[in-house]
Amino acid sequence: MIVDIPKTNNPRIVVIGGGFAGIQLTKMLKNEDVQIVMLDKNNFHTFIPLLYQVATAGLEPDSIAFPLRKIFKGQTNFLFRMAEVFNIKPEIKCVETSIGDITYDYLVIATGSKSNFYGLKDFQANAIPMKSLVEALNLRSFILQKFEKALLTNDVKEREHLMSVVVVGGGPTGVEIAGALAELKNHILANDYPELDTRKMQIHLIELLPRLMASMSNESSEKSQLFLKQLGVNIWLDTGVKSYDGLNVCLTSGKIIQAYTVIWSAGVMGATIPGVNGNTLLKGDRIKVDSFSKVAGYENIFAIGDVAGMISDKFPDGHPMLAPVAVQQGEHLAKNILNLIHKKELQPFVYKNPGAMATVGRNRAVVDLQYFKFQGMFAWFIWVFVHLMKLVSFRNRLVVFVNWVWNYFSYDRGIRLIIKPLGK
Ligand SMILES: Cc1cc2nc3c(=O)[nH]c(=O)nc-3n(C[C@H](O)[C@H](O)[C@H](O)COP(=O)(O)OP(=O)(O)OC[C@H]3O[C@@H](n4cnc5c(N)ncnc54)[C@H](O)[C@@H]3O)c2cc1C
Repeated sequence: MIVDIPKTNNPRIVVIGGGFAGIQLTKMLKNEDVQIVMLDKNNFHTFIPLLYQVATAGLEPDSIAFPLRKIFKGQTNFLFRMAEVFNIKPEIKCVETSIGDITYDYLVIATGSKSNFYGLKDFQANAIPMKSLVEALNLRSFILQKFEKALLTNDVKEREHLMSVVVVGGGPTGVEIAGALAELKNHILANDYPELDTRKMQIHLIELLPRLMASMSNESSEKSQLFLKQLGVNIWLDTGVKSYDGLNVCLTSGKIIQAYTVIWSAGVMGATIPGVNGNTLLKGDRIKVDSFSKVAGYENIFAIGDVAGMISDKFPDGHPMLAPVAVQQGEHLAKNILNLIHKKELQPFVYKNPGAMATVGRNRAVVDLQYFKFQGMFAWFIWVFVHLMKLVSFRNRLVVFVNWVWNYFSYDRGIRLIIKPLGK
């Protein structure tokens, strides 16, 4: 069944995904003679870099989510349909979705990424990923549920296992969540649960490589390790995970750590959609594109953001899966689609690296810019400012700012709600 979408005389660009890449592309085409049909399985955009703060009770979910229709209010060439896309049929220029088939002239795949468990089925079944708002909320409930359970047992070891958390993956996400958990332990849980000896809550961070945040500079890596140690996080470098039965995390070193909560932040892979030529998939399930974001083998299908693998001399494995890459690719592709429509020459994409940053608990962050690297309190202020400015709306900025100021001065995160029934 073809979904009845109003037809215009302008070419229809179907954009799958209202993430950083899809939003930027759509904004750039605001005043152009095209029809944009955005499809997303959610009706909101998620500011993923702050998910870990939702998971650790620092922010409300709706302060980092924004309705897609509202973002494009007043953009007359824009239509939104809430739909999950299951399949692409390039031969008839159509996508199959949960609401029916939708035709396109140009198709932009901007579906982002999903957790990659590297075939470790135990972890896929028992660990908690943190890739969406729902997962972040579940994680918050899960951790608090375990504390409620810990109150009910007199078995000292069992209590420790219920309170403890293992974070798998010491990239920026793992480091940020481990730091936030340590703050939660030190300032919140100790007060909320005076009957529990929360000093026994162990936070473990496990990293396969010899250093944390390998994508950042050595200085930032060393400093984040130091900051986490000061916060009481146990760091295991050069260590992989082998299995997890819901309690015992078996490490490649032979050590076994016991914890009922394991957070998976060890990697992501492209959130691809079947239908485009299978040969176009690269390592990490990213769709192979040329320097114009065009999917290999097609003239009118493009991929941008995390799901796209644009290989170049500078980026032999594709660009890093980061928001600035997605935003810049969205902006660039908008110009190239117009070039294509107006039969002009396409321009290759060149990434301008704005630097990278990560926070490690309150007051501490690490920042890598092209010519400067700095860590500590000043870096944390920069991190706070940049993240506030990147949020989509003034309302979101205000809510996040008020929450952060409150949390900072009161040492009290207000959102310690268990909103998922006790389970798993
Ligand atoms: C926990 C975490 C922390 C991060 N922190 C940072 C950070 O601090 N700084 C930074 O630069 N980057 C960070 N990143 C990476 C950053 O979030 C991504 O690079 C960025 O979101 C990619 O943008 P995108 O538009 O490609 O995809 P996304 O922002 O993921 O958007 C994809 C959209 O596609 C939709 N979608 C997916 N599949 C379908 C389908 N089949 N049908 C319909 N809709 C679909 C999704 O609902 C989503 O709205 C982090 C990532 C994670 C997981």
